[in-house]
Amino acid sequence: MTLHIPFDNTYAALPPVFYTKQAPVPVKAPELIAYNAALGERLGITAGETAEMAGVFAGNRVPDGADPLAQLYAGHQFGNYNPQLGDGRAILLGEAVGVDGERRDIQLKGSGRTPYSRGGDGRAWLGPVLREYVVSEAMHALGIPTTRALAAVTTGETVWREEGGLTGAVLTRVASSHLRVGTFQIFAARGEQAALRQLTGYAIQRHYPEADGPMGLLRAVRDRQAELIAAWMSVGFIHGVMNTDNSSISGETIDYGPCAFMDVYHPSTVFSSIDRMGRYAYSNQPDIAVWNLAQLATALIQQAEDPQAMVEEATEIVHGMPALTEAAWLRRFGAKIGIADATPDDMALITDLLTRMAEGQADFTNTFRALLEGVDQGAGKVRDEFLAPESFDSWATGWRARLAQEADPVAVMAAANPVYIPRNHRIEAMIASAVAGDFTPFERLNTVLSDPYSVQAGAEDLRRPPAASEVVKATFCG
Ligand code: AMP
Ligand code: MG
Ligand code: MG
Repeated sequence: MTLHIPFDNTYAALPPVFYTKQAPVPVKAPELIAYNAALGERLGITAGETAEMAGVFAGNRVPDGADPLAQLYAGHQFGNYNPQLGDGRAILLGEAVGVDGERRDIQLKGSGRTPYSRGGDGRAWLGPVLREYVVSEAMHALGIPTTRALAAVTTGETVWREEGGLTGAVLTRVASSHLRVGTFQIFAARGEQAALRQLTGYAIQRHYPEADGPMGLLRAVRDRQAELIAAWMSVGFIHGVMNTDNSSISGETIDYGPCAFMDVYHPSTVFSSIDRMGRYAYSNQPDIAVWNLAQLATALIQQAEDPQAMVEEATEIVHGMPALTEAAWLRRFGAKIGIADATPDDMALITDLLTRMAEGQADFTNTFRALLEGVDQGAGKVRDEFLAPESFDSWATGWRARLAQEADPVAVMAAANPVYIPRNHRIEAMIASAVAGDFTPFERLNTVLSDPYSVQAGAEDLRRPPAASEVVKATFCG
């Protein structure tokens, strides 16, 4: 069988101000290490034989119907505006409309230099490629909007990083689109109004056909982003690089660089080695999302004849975001403690638990999951998650009283509290094995994490937090 991808490209049909057409740079010896057959089917892709797939997903052969290009964008990186970024190591092959009717981008990441590579080599190494593969697929299985992983290949080439020579790899990433806040910023900053208007129309048509004009788009992005951030918070996810170029217009999680799931709960947790000021710390994420939305607002109003006339509405939209994120947060964290429809009156109960978890150095995932067993007094091991178990007991009295008003709190908690998350130490160990040629841990993580809300036989070890010697203190962009 030959590989067939049903391309239907709309971005490549936009004027050239938005991108540079360019093919991926071929590599020496592509080898297919993973293909996500279920996702491929959903995209309407017919799989081919292994060598052919390796060639296509390494960028050595441009498949029929693809119209490869590097997208142009800018962005605020750690709060500082960088007037030109763009795909420095990614190539958009094109779009496919799946069997579910959804249009999605198919992009190679690590596919060589482009006109936007600046000082970079355009490449990726195996570690971050497998990390993104596992974590983005886990995120999808958790029910959180995200880009996905279609394939991973090794290139047979060495990639040089601070650590030395590393195994080169390419990830095939699938996204609702790769439109970012930064895609709008670049044309606004350059005063290219016509491009900005065209981009706005394109984004509306592609993602929010019901949205009315630029302010309608802003509102729609706000609503999706508010839901997304609350969803991240609810699983202890820290994105790590919430720059405006990594903030998706479609409201998906994008750019799995130094991201991480927390083990021990603490609101100020940071993993990213480059986030020295903690700008993108766990508990800052809702505020940063508002800041990013404000940058989108600032860009979008530049397309008006009189931008000043849009300021009031744009401000109102941006200022409305914190309440939306908080409402989504309340709904999700309410469910995590067994309350189906939490109201603001439940807020104190939730935040009180979180405060005790932080003080008690409780594992975020395991504590919430163990609450299921803690519904009946005395049962379960949830109290042992706390350094001082009495601190849980005294909270639980009020909690049990509140649960008396709930119809089926255990079912609500079971659906809101995953058993398995991609823990950092497991990811690191998986990468170390893969580098040594053993992909078994990679495959096992994918399998177990594909069903994160069910307890699975033989996977008890994947629930375990890191031992002191296993704790991952920092994550890197790769
Ligand atoms: P990120 O921090 O991953 O969002 O990337 C920020 C910018 O740096 C984007 O424009 C990337 O395309 C670019 N970039 C990251 N790594 C590389 C690389 N190895 N070679 C070229 N460009 C890169
Ligand atoms: Mg990025
Ligand atoms: Mg990145």
